[in-house]
Amino acid sequence: MAIFNHISFDDHEQVVFCHDKESGLKAIIAIHNTNLGPAVGGCRMWNYESDDEAITDVLRLSRGMTYKNALAGLAMGGGKSVIIADPKVQDREALFRAFGRCIDTLGGKYYSAEDVGVSTADIMIAHQETPYMAGLEGKSGDPSPFTALGTYLGIKAAVKHQRGLDSLKGLKISVQGVGHVGYYLCRHLHAEGAELIVTDIHQDSLDRVATEFGATVVAPQDIYHQDVDVYAPCALGATINDITIPMLKATIVAGCANNQLAEVRHGEMLKDLGILYAPDYVINAGGIINVSFEKDYDASAATAKVEEIYNTLLTIFTQSVEQNRTTGDVADEMARNIINAAK
Ligand code: NAD
Repeated sequence: MAIFNHISFDDHEQVVFCHDKESGLKAIIAIHNTNLGPAVGGCRMWNYESDDEAITDVLRLSRGMTYKNALAGLAMGGGKSVIIADPKVQDREALFRAFGRCIDTLGGKYYSAEDVGVSTADIMIAHQETPYMAGLEGKSGDPSPFTALGTYLGIKAAVKHQRGLDSLKGLKISVQGVGHVGYYLCRHLHAEGAELIVTDIHQDSLDRVATEFGATVVAPQDIYHQDVDVYAPCALGATINDITIPMLKATIVAGCANNQLAEVRHGEMLKDLGILYAPDYVINAGGIINVSFEKDYDASAATAKVEEIYNTLLTIFTQSVEQNRTTGDVADEMARNIINAAK
């Protein structure tokens, strides 16, 4: 298993492997870059099929956090952690305490928070062992509603750029994954009069959005070829790939999932087909922006900062047209300039 030569290593500053025999904890913490401040990024708990798969995921996610935090204008570096375990595991106390102790050994170089499979309750358990946890109850709390707000505004920015429309009324939007963020996103979209087509692998999550927002439910494999205006990937990564791109009828891809493009070249493929892509780490920064207000928490200040995502994306879309480059390319360069200036 290669680490330093890993395709996603990208000059990571530190990668830490954590093991606790008693609780069974197997975790990896990746700190990509701390030019702008301590690394901050959530913890994902997932049934990875191999250690290799977990390493690839954490390295990609961690790098994404560096770019996300920089472009969102936050004084925070990029990092991420993964716990290799079934996210539905019942006995979480010992596991998250062990995880907290592991985070603590880094002395504040990395702060963790919620991500897929990890709840605010889990973070509170880990917080008993370390101060280096964010997204705490009574502070910034669950980041998902803020991620959803940013994603909703990002979809509006994409629709404004491509169609000149100020409203989503009557537009068809497909949402893949109606979990924490997907649910709140559907609520915004429904409130504005969009027609929803959704999928998930959990029936109860689907029932909720079907009942509350009148969403049409389709099978997971059928989400890509729906005749919609916008496709919003809100489950796991790499769903934009060689197989799915030819199926897309949407002319906009804008959702909250991290690492939506399987490879960078898939951004080129979307551009060549005239499909507008909202770079994932820009559109889904709402949650981390909210977390950045953790210390003296102020929900309205956090909301105002999340709303900046709309203009940031409009700038990226405009530059992408002017410079004939992919939106991802434009965003990456903007982020790198900020990170390098802080060196
Ligand atoms: P979640 O686990 O609550 O929701 C994900 C949903 O996707 C679940 O309901 C799950 O059943 C569903 N799903 C998984 N595989 C699927 C498949 N093959 N087809 C259809 N549905 C599938 O997670 P979340 O917190 O809502 O995050 C969703 C995505 O957004 C993740 O990629 C996450 O990294 C990213 N993200 C989340 C936040 C946040 O604030 N929670 C912030 C930034 C980015």
